[in-house]
Amino acid sequence: MEERLKEAPCGLISIDHNGCITEVNNRYLSWMGYREEEVIGKHIETFLTKVNRMFVHTYFVPTIQLHGTVEEFYINLTNSAGESVPFLMNARRYMQDGVPVIDCMFIQMKQRIDYEMELRSLQKTTEKAYKDREEAFAQLEKIYLEIERKQDEILKMNDELLKLSNTDKLTAIPNRRFFQEELERHMERYSRKGTVFSLLMVDIDHFKKVNDTYGHLVGDSVLIQLAEVLTEEVRSEDRVARLGGEEFVVILPQTDAEEAIEQARRLNKVVENTKWETIDRLTVSIGVSTFSESDTESTILNSADQALYQAKASGRNCSIHFQEVL
Ligand code: GH3
Ligand code: MG
Ligand code: MG
Repeated sequence: MEERLKEAPCGLISIDHNGCITEVNNRYLSWMGYREEEVIGKHIETFLTKVNRMFVHTYFVPTIQLHGTVEEFYINLTNSAGESVPFLMNARRYMQDGVPVIDCMFIQMKQRIDYEMELRSLQKTTEKAYKDREEAFAQLEKIYLEIERKQDEILKMNDELLKLSNTDKLTAIPNRRFFQEELERHMERYSRKGTVFSLLMVDIDHFKKVNDTYGHLVGDSVLIQLAEVLTEEVRSEDRVARLGGEEFVVILPQTDAEEAIEQARRLNKVVENTKWETIDRLTVSIGVSTFSESDTESTILNSADQALYQAKASGRNCSIHFQEVL
């Protein structure tokens, strides 16, 4: 073999018509760890694994005899350590001095296979990372949904709490706190637009007697029913609240003194004529006041209170406007 071919950057082997190796280059020997005399004269099958022997018989031998060449044939050959080394082989069959010779050229595949394996493992790692990321996103989405749900719950709870804090426990109508806020809103509207409004301070007459005669529970039921009666009787824009004890207040928006005292007197009649569930008869006294420029939150309440006191003094079951108070 020519010196150049001996050191060529690929493995070279020549086989005779019996399949015995007649020539081998140095590159192949150094790759496989053989000395020349361990290879020359040996049948090529000596260096093939069982499976590779089958491929050589079923594909390589018939193809080379029919077409004279075989290209890109994957083959595994065993080295001196008994390890299987993968090669890509091209072969050519030709006649030399009347006898057929097969030249085989080998390119090592090990690096490429290692590279492919590395690529495959990288692909797997990437796929897993994608899967993990998708799972993490799904998890995150679940958490976001849960947070949204909790936020809705909190908002609902806040609404409930606000309602509770503005509602009287016994009668379930607005309480003093709600009334004070509502009063502030009306005062603010008055200062902005001059929209007039009035207050009715409603106090049950001789309520102590109701408790003393029928008991506290009956007294409670009367308070509940009176709250219902007042709420039903006023206009939809009016607000009834329980100030505490047996005292109620009604805010009448856009109502002047004349209309307010009229409304109060109508309520006197309604209460007097109501059929009570637990007692025979009930009356209320009402103090009326109408907001004016010089009023504050405390003076308007004070005025209604004084008018109420006057109504009580005048024999009860009646209404007095603060303007009538001497
Ligand atoms: P007046 O006509 O002067 O207003 O007499 P009155 O008896 O209604 O007034 P007084 O202030 O003397 O008594 C109010 C009574 O209301 C005393 C109290 O026991 C009763 N009361 C206050 N809050 C409640 C309540 O929530 N339930 C019941 N059953 N009674 C209550
Ligand atoms: Mg009272
Ligand atoms: Mg009373």
